[in-house]
Amino acid sequence: MSQNFLNYIGGQWIPARSGRTFTNLNPATGAALGEFPESGPDDLDAAVRAARAATRAWQLTPAPKRGELLYRLGALIAQKKEELARAATREMGKILLETRGDVQEGVDMAYLAAGEGRRLYGFTTPSEMPNKWAMSLRVPIGVVGVITAWNFPFAVPTWKIFPALLAGNTVVFKPSEETPEMGWHLAKLFEEVGLPAGVFNVVHGNGPNVGWPMVQHPGVDVVSFTGSNAVGTKIATEGARLGKRVSLEMGGKNGVIVMDDADISLAANAVAWGAFGTTGQRCTATSRVIVHERVHDELVKLVTQRAQALKLGDGLLEGVEMGPLVNARQLERVSGYMKVGAAEGAKVVAGGARASGEGLNSGFFFQPTVLTNVQPGMRVAQEEIFGPVVGFVKVKSLEEAIAVNNDTPFGLSSSIFTANVNAAFTAMRDLATGIVYVNHGTTGAETHLPFGGTRGTGNGHREAGHTMLDAFTEWKSVYVDFSGKVQRAQIDNN
Ligand code: NAD
Repeated sequence: MSQNFLNYIGGQWIPARSGRTFTNLNPATGAALGEFPESGPDDLDAAVRAARAATRAWQLTPAPKRGELLYRLGALIAQKKEELARAATREMGKILLETRGDVQEGVDMAYLAAGEGRRLYGFTTPSEMPNKWAMSLRVPIGVVGVITAWNFPFAVPTWKIFPALLAGNTVVFKPSEETPEMGWHLAKLFEEVGLPAGVFNVVHGNGPNVGWPMVQHPGVDVVSFTGSNAVGTKIATEGARLGKRVSLEMGGKNGVIVMDDADISLAANAVAWGAFGTTGQRCTATSRVIVHERVHDELVKLVTQRAQALKLGDGLLEGVEMGPLVNARQLERVSGYMKVGAAEGAKVVAGGARASGEGLNSGFFFQPTVLTNVQPGMRVAQEEIFGPVVGFVKVKSLEEAIAVNNDTPFGLSSSIFTANVNAAFTAMRDLATGIVYVNHGTTGAETHLPFGGTRGTGNGHREAGHTMLDAFTEWKSVYVDFSGKVQRAQIDNN
């Protein structure tokens, strides 16, 4: 029997005011997992009011105390890791090995943000005047609206919510409608560690009915968004009109460069993991291999072998290596790109179609796919496919490889496989992405380094790492004059 889940507003568990619900489905089996509130602007408004009401007391709670709460939360997540990972696999589809990693990222982020509670450093600096003190400090902004995608249903919300709360903001969270249960779990966990009512609120529902009203709501000061470029740029435009701070994490078209001196077997394993892990539905997924012509055929052969050997199925089952796509729309989108690729002249050397067979027919499974003959300007080399599809582009030199890598609308992650230190450092300098890997695939970011990308991937912000508080704080400069005189800066000392 499927369970009824509720919104979490002002510390209360409540249904949508309309009484309507939507069904959360398991993409591997088609089974119904639960009913969630199909909320609207009035539910969102109630949550924003609850968050605003809680702001003052939360800001006045000492930052180390806010940090301790996150520390306790991290310990609780660690304790419930397996239960949470299973729930994430059920609703999102990726295999347990990966959802365990997704949940672990939440633990890491909780501890990282908790530690910030005893740092939250500002700057002191000498004043240009005698008997005057000068400093600058971070202050919270107010209410943060969080809108996220479904592919990292636990980790991505934590990158935003934990730093926002640590900094002294309150939060209204709209989880993806594809993975609402992980948002519900997060609220349960916060309730269990005793976060004060209203500091964290969850409103379930879709983009137009909850996400967009959140962007427009005058009580929301910051919007932190992870999702597609199309939605993100729309939010940024509206945010600019309303004078709000908007932080965007959007798509990727990540490339792995493989030079002719590389360890080809290592590169093949990294490409297979980067392209087919999470069924290719990572913002950092490897979707292009930019390979030196001398090792092209060998690499294609190895990656094809790995693609064809992958065991597909329900991610909860032992031995399964790749789960389904998240929904019918994704299946249609990825299938559509096969036609686009064929029309452009790309050649399918592995996969290329919906997967069928025992255990696969009720889910949204797609075969791990390898495309060759891909030219840099083709749509399959420029647009985010967001499925288990990798295209090979042949190049003649490092210079050409770097130029091909940089020539897409996105700039999240890139990588180079080479044994040549000069080539590695050239790539580190010239690859125009927010994340660069050497002898490692395009996925695998760690929480204590800044995360984000250039061009169409973002709008200049970086999540996590030492930059994690930037989107969620303002700088306040404070001058204290103890001279007992009116001291005029730039005038009296010149
Ligand atoms: P999406 O843009 O369709 O949806 C993202 C979120 O926005 C969802 O919660 C959705 O309900 C909401 N939304 C949709 N329309 C809205 C509107 N008009 N106003 C406000 N909110 C709205 O993206 P998706 O399909 O959920 O996720 C896939 C995308 O996310 C890919 O492009 C992927 O690269 C990107 N992604 C990026 C990162 C990163 O950190 N760079 C991480 C994960 C995913």
